[in-house]
Amino acid sequence: MLDRDDCLALDHGADSSGNPVAGFAARFAAGAPGTLYFDANSIGPMPLAAPERVRQVLDQGWRIARRRSWNETDWLDQPRKLGGSLSRVLGAGAGDVLVADSTTINQHKLLHHALDLNAPRDVVVVEREVFPSNRYAAEAASALRGARLRDISCSGELGEALAAGDVAVVALSLVDYRSSTRLDLVGITELIHAHGALALWDLSHAAGAVAVSLEKAGVDCAVGCVYKYLCGGPGAPAWLYVHPRHSQSVVWPALAGWMGHSDAFAFEPGYRPAASVSRHQAGTPAVIANAAMSAAADIWCDVDPQELDERHRSLTNLLIRLVDEQCAEFGVTVASPREHAKRGGHVTLRFSDAQAEGDVSALAQALVEAGVIVSSRKPDALRLASHPLVARHTDLWDAVSKLRGLLLSEQWRDPRYRRASV
Ligand SMILES: *Cc1c(COP(=O)(O)O)cnc(C)c1O
Repeated sequence: MLDRDDCLALDHGADSSGNPVAGFAARFAAGAPGTLYFDANSIGPMPLAAPERVRQVLDQGWRIARRRSWNETDWLDQPRKLGGSLSRVLGAGAGDVLVADSTTINQHKLLHHALDLNAPRDVVVVEREVFPSNRYAAEAASALRGARLRDISCSGELGEALAAGDVAVVALSLVDYRSSTRLDLVGITELIHAHGALALWDLSHAAGAVAVSLEKAGVDCAVGCVYKYLCGGPGAPAWLYVHPRHSQSVVWPALAGWMGHSDAFAFEPGYRPAASVSRHQAGTPAVIANAAMSAAADIWCDVDPQELDERHRSLTNLLIRLVDEQCAEFGVTVASPREHAKRGGHVTLRFSDAQAEGDVSALAQALVEAGVIVSSRKPDALRLASHPLVARHTDLWDAVSKLRGLLLSEQWRDPRYRRASV
């Protein structure tokens, strides 16, 4: 059985899993005292530099310079620059990532784009149980264009769905938002290509937590959240990726606009798409949100994705072991895959002794009140997502000890925990 000193030793790099990303934690602001955050799957920690970046834009840019800012600063270049900063952690070419709009909007844009690129094929394949917004986008894109939607219930059904040779695009989430199960990016993209279809991946629960390699996998299009593990701040614009082989194409982006024109300030009456991923930017960037995100983007330029992955593996493997050792007897078990390569950012636990509807949210609420911020999903799942650049192994020890304490004392059964939901 592990004790806290073993976890402390891991923090100090006493074994080979060590702490390859030590030093990055100091570039993030501390959260509330006495609080352990396991909610990086919803909103990542705040980079120290973020508030000052926002203040600068408000004060120098808005209050003082006003309209001149468009010419005197890099506000208009930020979508491309921020994308460039994220390219290392996404395993993408520096010019192939754009930051703009929300994940959902980008999903819409790229579904339509993939249908255009792969016409006359007209089938969109999507998982029935994917994150709902992705499924709504696939439904809506199909309805709008008279395309056909083909549901699969798991990636294992993909071969059959592709067999007829009529699929234009397969839209998948790399990591399941409930169980954290991670698919095989390389193998599945190959399968999709072997059938002449294009691959559109959502990496929201992977990017910034584990190593991914969009370019190596030959992915056609991808999208993902920036406010989760990428730490861009609440409501940060999302990233989108298009493989360079599609960025020179004559096919227009789904949403043509002046910011995606090859010469925006020529004010030409006719649209000509920019010869890069920038064509997928329709209108004016979200300057204040981009300023907040730029603090995280600077950090991502410096992070070695393999070291990030190593740290994530060390932390999540430890979490799984601690839960096995300390909580299994109370019916709390690990629902996520045990093999690191098959897991995304978070670890999902199952509270199988939950007897009543609401037991798992009561347990989550009791944990939150004890200073361990987690999320729950009915009927029986708890999700724990520590950020690999910030979390310590001892944080995991402290969180699991609190969980064990609540289970042992049965304090979580207190009726007051049933009122709130997290
Ligand atoms: C979080 C998440 C989103 C969020 O989309 P928004 O447009 O930012 O609301 C989309 N897809 C997946 C898979 C997510 O996990």
